[in-house]
Amino acid sequence: MRDGLEIVQKSMLEADVSYSVVQDFMGHVSEKALGKRVLLSLRPNEELVRIVHDELISILGPVDSSLHLKSEGPTIIMLCGLQGSGKTTTCGKLSQLLKEQDIKPMLVAADLQRPAAIEQLHVIGRQLDIPVYSEADNKDPVKVCQNGVAKAKAEGARVVILDTAGRLAIDDELMAELAKIDKKVGPDQVYLVVDGMTGQDAVNSAGAFNDALELDGVIMTKLDGDARGGALLSVKHVTGVPIKFIGTGEHFDALEPFRPEGMASRILQMGDIVAAAREAHRIVDESEREELEAKMASGDFTLDDFKNMMEKVAKPGLMGKMMGLMPGMGQFKEMMDSEEAAGGIRQTIGAINSMTMEERRNPKLIDAHRRTRIAKGAGVQSPVITQLVKQFEMMKPLMQGMMGQGAGGRMKMMQQ
Ligand code: GDP
Ligand code: MG
Repeated sequence: MRDGLEIVQKSMLEADVSYSVVQDFMGHVSEKALGKRVLLSLRPNEELVRIVHDELISILGPVDSSLHLKSEGPTIIMLCGLQGSGKTTTCGKLSQLLKEQDIKPMLVAADLQRPAAIEQLHVIGRQLDIPVYSEADNKDPVKVCQNGVAKAKAEGARVVILDTAGRLAIDDELMAELAKIDKKVGPDQVYLVVDGMTGQDAVNSAGAFNDALELDGVIMTKLDGDARGGALLSVKHVTGVPIKFIGTGEHFDALEPFRPEGMASRILQMGDIVAAAREAHRIVDESEREELEAKMASGDFTLDDFKNMMEKVAKPGLMGKMMGLMPGMGQFKEMMDSEEAAGGIRQTIGAINSMTMEERRNPKLIDAHRRTRIAKGAGVQSPVITQLVKQFEMMKPLMQGMMGQGAGGRMKMMQQ
């Protein structure tokens, strides 16, 4: 269980979720896991994955990829974000989406920082056959936006998209400029465009944009690459506004309405964790599990049961395969597959085989004399037997505790 939580935590950090968000999240999840008595389950990882998955979905939601178009007059959508985050490209993608619904938007070139920005928007306009408003000599983006909106009104456009300037990093001048556009032009929807590949930086910049502007949504781009999208969770946490769309490529049709399920799986590399849990599940089949459960509940967990468990676990390569499937556990794969690990398990099984049925039921009977006999039979040194019995005695209350103890006992186990 604790291992399971550690795997999840590691997996989230690897997916670029910020540390404070992960801490927060793990707090919630452990609470829920305790509430649902995950430790009582013989499939704790599966149970845990479900809880984590649900929690991710609830944090990433609600789903709202509507552009909230007004029934009258043009709806003004303002895109903002750092330079290179994908604002201009997203202007084209949103236009394509609207065109598919027979709504013709107008684009406004309000990035007056880079000389090529205006031309870039015109190229997109020509490709999609939609009007682009720009002013070659105006240095005031507020005026350009106001004039563009007036033109859109006059021409009866239903949507105006403002393509604003970015910077390589957050600066006060940029924020002041955007805040001014926000105030004077009064966009209906303000979306922050975030580069999904920038990880932690995305979180810092999202905080700054959120402070300066009243954001209505986030669009995260470049999720077609290796980025696992963990930054989305952090950005959502920082801004509190819905994630509208994700960009999954450079083409205009590479814009998807945001779906928390897919993203939760992606963050967790869910497929892999589920596969690992399933594999673990297969070790003990249903009827055996019931039997084991009953035994443990009645306090009747013997060395024979211990041996059975070992035999299942010792199936060649199984442990290694499970480890290899879990995110972040790859490095343990070799260790678990090693001859040493397998040898240890074989030795334990051999030693138990050399015990009488009575000794297996009640290891307390094993005195020095019996120990020597068992060791000889199993071909090991007698301290190995001492160690084995010790191990079993340590495990026994734990196994029984999983089944029979009250909440206090479980709490204690989780904190250990
Ligand atoms: P802006 O400075 O915010 O306007 O960013 P641009 O729209 O000019 O995009 C910067 C670069 O990112 C361009 O090369 C785009 O093709 C690329 N880009 C934008 N969105 C995506 C996306 O979703 N996936 C990929 N792979 N590239 C993208
Ligand atoms: Mg641009």
